[in-house]
Amino acid sequence: MDFDDTREEAAFRAEARQWLGAHAEPKRGAFETWQSRYPGREGWDGLERAKAFQSRKAEAGFAALHWPAEWGGRALPPIYQVIYSQEETRFLVPRGYFEIGLGMCMPTLFAYGTEAQKRRYAPPALRGDEVWCQLFSEPGAGSDLAGLRTRAQRDGGDWVINGQKIWTSGAHWADRAILVARSDPKAAKHKGLTFFFLDMKSPGIETRRIKQISGASHFNEVYFTDVRIPDSQRLGAVGAGWGVAITTLMNERLTSGDLRGPDFEEIFGLARATTLEDGPAIANAAVRERLADLYVKTQGVRLTRFRTMTALSRGETPGPENSIGKLVSGAMLQDIAAYAMDLQGASGVLNDPQVAEMAGQFQAMLMSSPSARIAGGTDEILRNIIAERVLGLPPDIRVDKDVPFNKLAGGR
Ligand SMILES: Cc1cc2nc3c(=O)[nH]c(=O)nc-3n(C[C@H](O)[C@H](O)[C@H](O)COP(=O)(O)OP(=O)(O)OC[C@H]3O[C@@H](n4cnc5c(N)ncnc54)[C@H](O)[C@@H]3O)c2cc1C
Repeated sequence: MDFDDTREEAAFRAEARQWLGAHAEPKRGAFETWQSRYPGREGWDGLERAKAFQSRKAEAGFAALHWPAEWGGRALPPIYQVIYSQEETRFLVPRGYFEIGLGMCMPTLFAYGTEAQKRRYAPPALRGDEVWCQLFSEPGAGSDLAGLRTRAQRDGGDWVINGQKIWTSGAHWADRAILVARSDPKAAKHKGLTFFFLDMKSPGIETRRIKQISGASHFNEVYFTDVRIPDSQRLGAVGAGWGVAITTLMNERLTSGDLRGPDFEEIFGLARATTLEDGPAIANAAVRERLADLYVKTQGVRLTRFRTMTALSRGETPGPENSIGKLVSGAMLQDIAAYAMDLQGASGVLNDPQVAEMAGQFQAMLMSSPSARIAGGTDEILRNIIAERVLGLPPDIRVDKDVPFNKLAGGR
């Protein structure tokens, strides 16, 4: 494992830091986020600001460092993307709006689209002019994505889509989407799927926002009634949609491996600032024992991340450490947030960043951390991946694998 930047990486880090210093708002403290500085303005207003920043970032060549130069990237190894992200987290950048488009949809388009499609769609995605979303999950198909039921039926040069997706992040402001749908219900569940991209303003699409525990509405239900997609917007062969979806999901797991949130330093800071009934929390033996446990875990996650970074820096593809990092850090974020609530006692109920302890970051993390254990692969699915691909244990039981989809209970 190598903890230091190479000479080239250090030079790039300095370049990124200098550009961000000139173009992004610095944080006033470690806890500040774009949402806590501008409460209530994260939605459409945030999108407009994010688009303006993204366009400057693309112009400066920082928007997709590992993309080929012809599509506006710098063809750099993925480690440079990690270095840029580390530097960007020191600044107040409204994030997240373009992650799905640039991190998942474009790599899929690069792998399966025509040259003309790449020329048409990659530059506006990179500049933030067009936002993309991912229409995969359904009420009965999440971890078992191949169980999806949204139908795609051929009609001349078009496909007609009917059905429902759910948990679609950003569908309410997306301009375009990738979609996987069932084109052949008589084939086995993984074999009857076809993959498309489409315009989110197409007639017949209805988007309904889902209210989350935090009060925000980042994701949606999306309904399709006779939505027409030209066959030219099919990615991959008819019936080969599962393979295309795997390309997208491999990129999703890489994107979601990098979870962010208050860490050991912050919970340690909270313990130092808190007074319990019998004195300072930091002097309490039970608190110190809990902090020691959290320290061990956070260091384990940190060192696992260094392994990923070392692999990337050497030009290798990160191995199972990416799944291990996500599995452990999701639960750890939740643990840290829950313990911070215990330490804060009754004042833990305050979640307004203007008045809550440490700008309400622990409260925000308590609300958002369960999703870190679901999105991009649930804890159990990650355990299955580690069991099968790392430990070589027998595979999960998949009795329906070769059965025609319309012969399965609930299949049509
Ligand atoms: C913040 C967030 C954003 C999201 N954004 C998007 C998006 O933009 N687009 C999109 O398409 N989807 C999105 N999703 C949906 C996400 O992909 C699914 O929630 C996820 O795949 C899990 O599926 P599910 O919710 O249907 O749960 P299920 O798959 O029904 O799982 C329910 C429970 O059963 C367990 N389980 C399932 N299968 C197994 C198994 N084989 N062995 C052991 N346990 C199992 C799971 O671990 C879980 O505990 C998002 C989800 C979140 C939380």
